Order: sequence, then C-alpha cells, then structure tokens
Amino acid sequence: MIKVQTILIIEDEESILDILAYSLRKEGYRVHGTATGQEGLRLFKGISPDVVILDLMLPDMTGFDICKLLTATSTVPILMLTARDDIVDKVLGLELGADDYMTKPFDVREVAARIKALLRRQKTASRSYLSINDVVRIEPRSHTVWKAEEQIALKPKEYELLLLFAQHKNQVFSREEILDTVWDFDYDGDARTVDVHVQRLRKKLGSSIIETVFGVGYKMRGM
Ligand code: CA
Repeated sequence: MIKVQTILIIEDEESILDILAYSLRKEGYRVHGTATGQEGLRLFKGISPDVVILDLMLPDMTGFDICKLLTATSTVPILMLTARDDIVDKVLGLELGADDYMTKPFDVREVAARIKALLRRQKTASRSYLSINDVVRIEPRSHTVWKAEEQIALKPKEYELLLLFAQHKNQVFSREEILDTVWDFDYDGDARTVDVHVQRLRKKLGSSIIETVFGVGYKMRGM
C-alpha cells in the first residue's frame, strides 16, 4: 500500500532544515521546506501536508502565531521545534495546538520516530475511507474503490495514482513527481506512462476525476 505522506517544515536554520528534509525524504516522505512563516502558510494551503514541523523562532512570525492560524482551520499534527528549554514555552505550545515538542539540539532519528507516532495517531483518529466529491469512495484497508454503489476494479498503479491525488486534492503534480512517487524512484519509464494511467482512471471513474493542468501536470479538484 502506498504511503506517500507529505511533511511541511518551517525552519529558518538552513542546516537543520537540510538535515531534517534529507532524513525524512530517506524515510519515504515527500518534504517541503521553507524558512519563513508567510511562505509556510502559503505552502500549507497548497500542499495540505500530513504533518507540520514548526520552528518556534522565525524571522517574520513566531511558531505560536503559525500554530494558532493552522489549528483554527485544520487538524494537522504539529511538531514544534525550539532552541529553548523553557517549560512555559512547552505548555504554551501544546495549549496552542502543537501535538508534540522537541528541543534543539535533537537527534534526527528521534524526530522521525515522533513523526511516525503523530501520523499513526492521526490515522486512527480519521475516517476509514477517502471520499472524492461524494462520488468516488476509496477504502484503503481493503484497497477497494467505489463509484456510487458500484465497485470499480483498478490495477495496482491506477489505485496508487488515485490515492495520491485523493490524499492531496487541489495539489498539482508534475509527471516527474508522479513517476517518482507512484513508480520507483529509479523507474526509467517516460512521462507518457503517467498520461496513460490518468486516461484509464478517467475512463473508469469519469473524465473529470483528474484535471490536466497545461504545461504543468495533473491535479484532482475537490473536497
Ligand atoms: Ca529559528
């Protein structure tokens, strides 16, 4: 089963951002990073990450402000990072909606373990199926896909492609990103493989299921 989960890191210390992004990518996550709060908030809307790693002291905003803004509209798990070891900050961070908290310097393996725990918690708390605009329903546990009340048979890669879009609605993916994610990183097929699979999904689930974004790639519009 595919588990491409997206992590947004908002951290202005370049060395920390780099090492986190590097290690989390190696664990199989899709990672987006930025050094400012404003850019972080903008990215958050675009990529709807599964987890946010948030530094407390940023050049333009505090992690507390960002935490407040994120938790007002989202249930995304947030892991706060700080250079301070202040118990007051810890309490405040957790009160504002952070789900976990780490003090620098930290072991990256520890961060990866915390992320895994946050995702596990989130998964059990969330619904057991994914809906695409109330028309198509994906049940990841049984790997089944339903359109209205009809079960739709999908090949494994068609299923993984559909799941990728359903987990990241309104996000545009380039053909290369899709190849890297759904196929192996070193898969040497060309981008037409993606086109063919998108066409098959449209045939099976309706032509509007995945949109072409000209010159960029594909996206699934929806809720
Ligand atoms: Ca900082």
